[in-house]
Amino acid sequence: METATVPAEVSATCSRCSKELDTEGSPNWCKACRAKYQREYKDLIARRSSEKAYNAGVEAMRQTLALEFSRIGKAILTGREIAFAISHAPRPTMQLTTTE
Ligand SMILES: [Zn+2]
Repeated sequence: METATVPAEVSATCSRCSKELDTEGSPNWCKACRAKYQREYKDLIARRSSEKAYNAGVEAMRQTLALEFSRIGKAILTGREIAFAISHAPRPTMQLTTTE
């Protein structure tokens, strides 16, 4: 049976950039790569939060406009009247939610 040979000394390198490792533990990344990951992760969280808020605002506005036009009921409207109704529709208010 053949035994696996283990090198006497393995120089540890960052698994992302292959530079010499200047940290310990997991993940096997150098300080610069860990810092870069943290910055990117924080940016991602902020971007997702912003997108979520934007989408909630769009949906709230759609519901508000649908309610406004359903109140008008049966009518023939000109484009100018529709534009006026949209621009004068009440703005949806922000719904505060609790994190569960
Ligand atoms: Zn690195």
